[in-house]
Amino acid sequence: MRNIVSIVYIAIIIALGICAFVSYKSKKAIGKPLGLLLISLIPPVFANLLINVCTTESFALVGCYMYYLGMNFVMYAMLKYTFTYCNITWPNRFVQIVVPTILFLDGLQVLSNTIFHHAFTTEVIMVDGYPYYNLVPFLPQNIHRMVDFMVFVAIELIFFYKTVTTVRIYAEKYSVILLTMIVCGLWECFYIVSGTPINVSMIGFGVYGLMVFYFSLYYRPLRLLDQMLANIASDMPEALYFFDPNGQCIWANDPGIKFAGLENNDFSSALKKLETKFNDIDFDSSDFSCKKVLGKGENAEYYVLNKQFVTNSNNKYVGSFLSVRDETKEQKDVQEQIYNATHDSLTDLYVREYLLSEIRKTIDDNPDKDYLVIYSDVQEFKMINDVYGTEFGDYVLKEIAKKIMRDFNDDCVYGRLSGDVFGILSTVDDFDPEYLDGELKNFFVHNGNVEEKINVQAGIYKIDDRDIDPSVMFDRAHLALNTIKNDYNRNIVYYDDEMRDAILWNQTITAQFEEAIRTRQIRPYLQPIVDKMGNVVGAEALVRWIHPELGFLSPAKFVPVFENNGLICELDKYMWRSSCEILAKWQKEFKNLFISVNISPKDFYFMDVAQEIESIIKEYDIEPGRLRIEITETVMMSDIDNRMKILNDLKEYGFIVEMDDFGSGYSSLNLLKDMPVDVLKIDMAFLRGSKETDRAETIIHNIINLSDDLGIISLTEGVETVQQYDMLNKMGCKLFQGFHFSKPIPVEEFETLYLDNAPSAIN
Ligand code: C2E
Ligand code: CA
Ligand code: CA
Repeated sequence: MRNIVSIVYIAIIIALGICAFVSYKSKKAIGKPLGLLLISLIPPVFANLLINVCTTESFALVGCYMYYLGMNFVMYAMLKYTFTYCNITWPNRFVQIVVPTILFLDGLQVLSNTIFHHAFTTEVIMVDGYPYYNLVPFLPQNIHRMVDFMVFVAIELIFFYKTVTTVRIYAEKYSVILLTMIVCGLWECFYIVSGTPINVSMIGFGVYGLMVFYFSLYYRPLRLLDQMLANIASDMPEALYFFDPNGQCIWANDPGIKFAGLENNDFSSALKKLETKFNDIDFDSSDFSCKKVLGKGENAEYYVLNKQFVTNSNNKYVGSFLSVRDETKEQKDVQEQIYNATHDSLTDLYVREYLLSEIRKTIDDNPDKDYLVIYSDVQEFKMINDVYGTEFGDYVLKEIAKKIMRDFNDDCVYGRLSGDVFGILSTVDDFDPEYLDGELKNFFVHNGNVEEKINVQAGIYKIDDRDIDPSVMFDRAHLALNTIKNDYNRNIVYYDDEMRDAILWNQTITAQFEEAIRTRQIRPYLQPIVDKMGNVVGAEALVRWIHPELGFLSPAKFVPVFENNGLICELDKYMWRSSCEILAKWQKEFKNLFISVNISPKDFYFMDVAQEIESIIKEYDIEPGRLRIEITETVMMSDIDNRMKILNDLKEYGFIVEMDDFGSGYSSLNLLKDMPVDVLKIDMAFLRGSKETDRAETIIHNIINLSDDLGIISLTEGVETVQQYDMLNKMGCKLFQGFHFSKPIPVEEFETLYLDNAPSAIN
């Protein structure tokens, strides 16, 4: 018996040593206190081993002292461990100072037994046939027992407190240790009370040591984890289903029960119900993950399904689980965001960028279909907004959008390109131009009780080049539209070859403009102006472009283009400068001759005309009266006050202002009353087109008389015959210009013909 106990003690010592070593190495906070506790358990066990095996009294006494002092050390280490394990900080100071002091003092008291022999002694008895030095405590030994007992009880109370105050599932961590301690304590008490010679309760120390070692370092509350996982699974918003290896559903969380519509938690019917819902999914198949849509349109529901096999630690198939996540809200949010980014909030039609990309896609996806694009614009939309308010303006746009949605089918793509501009892509086959024309001609919008006619025009480009960018397609349709912009009788217009050629032409001559000026391909021709006697008194400078490849280009070919893109400024400044150069050259001998230059109405938009002309004549030192200025009444069509001021300035400066093309416009007579002009250029062109020659002549006669009355010099241009010349002469016209005298000719020719040969005629 004694030998067995000894072997067990040795095994315990070795086990405690190893555990202590492992604890010290552990990185956990509990590692060190645990190591200390395990180390502290070794001396009492060793002491009892010594007592058990020794055969002399002195050795037995050493064992006794070691046992008692060791117990104090155990109490100290146990306390330290307990506070860390139980996560209690509050009494640390007390523990750190008071308790060790008491334990230390008690240790001294125990040691003093060597001198006073007051606490205990040993007696030899025979156990298992050889002497055993049994401990015989005296009354004062109870001091030591009391001290250790109190510390022990305090520790147990702490564990007890933790056991009852911690959540059930966690309490196990404390209750098991508490229980072990109680068993150890009882065992120790039993040893003390029973007076059995051999202290087998040390085995309890070993068990206790291993227990705390396990619980402190390796215990994972598996039940806790299980429960936590179960809770999480129950609370998850996803529908979850667990299947056994036979594919039978054995559990589903609440969302799962709801989703599959399981009654009375009848999990076994789950698979069938899921198969009915997602009839194209094979739920028996291995792991899968997929997205599914149930229902259509507004009511569509989006789900993400995920099935996984579950294997145990031996990699054996133990079942599977399926999760079904409802992504409907997320999907709808995303769809809403996409919708908002691609649709115009006012009309609900596509926004420009999206429309263009959709058109590109549609054209590419249907290579066998012919398409056209329509660029529609509301005439005078700004006026509608100004007069009726933006609310009505918005209403008009919405009505147009509705009309487009009604009139164009699903194969068409349409959207709002900008403010009042809508763009449509339609197949050529589906498009009915007569219908559209009719609809646009009769497009009315209700404004209260009143029906307002809204004039919408459409430019149409039949797509003959599918590779160009849709925005360029709309540019072409827009260009076509611009050609009928001011024509209230036309609502639709096609972009045609002529327009394409015109665009090409515009691009070509615009690109060549600078070089043409630099190399004088563009230069002035002069057309003489004569008086009643047929004497040349001046000339009109008319621009010509002698193109190296295209030959002679009349201004009609390029002036309107440059008027559109603004280059007209450069052209006119160049013409004025060239005319001044000529006048400067004539300065000496022919200083009575004048040159009339043309000023485009567009010039007034792009520059300060008066300042520009003044600076040029200053530069060439020309008298202002020798450079006559031709303007048309169009100049007066807008910004009239300002324009009037410019003309007055010019006149004041000494320029002679001529009103060009008089009679071809609309409000000439009305304007004449305020316009500060010196010369009226009457265009005979209208005479040529008129059948009623007599009436036309009467008009000219009256205009001549009128200008006389107003003190304005009359000049008739377009005089082609001697009869016309005679007639106008009789009517009292002062100056004449026309092919009858000469066509516009190069400057050198003009100089040779009229200056060299007939100087007298001029002076
Ligand atoms: P415009 O200012 O009315 O110039 C008179 C036009 O009538 C000239 O045409 C001239 O060649 C033409 N013409 C003169 N006599 C007769 C005639 O007896 N019968 C006929 N049928 N036509 C006659 P052109 O030179 O082709 O110029 C056309 C228009 O181009 C000009 O009309 C003017 O508006 C514009 N233009 C010409 N040069 C310039 C310029 O340097 N600057 C600007 N802004 N416009 C110019
Ligand atoms: Ca002119
Ligand atoms: Ca003219």
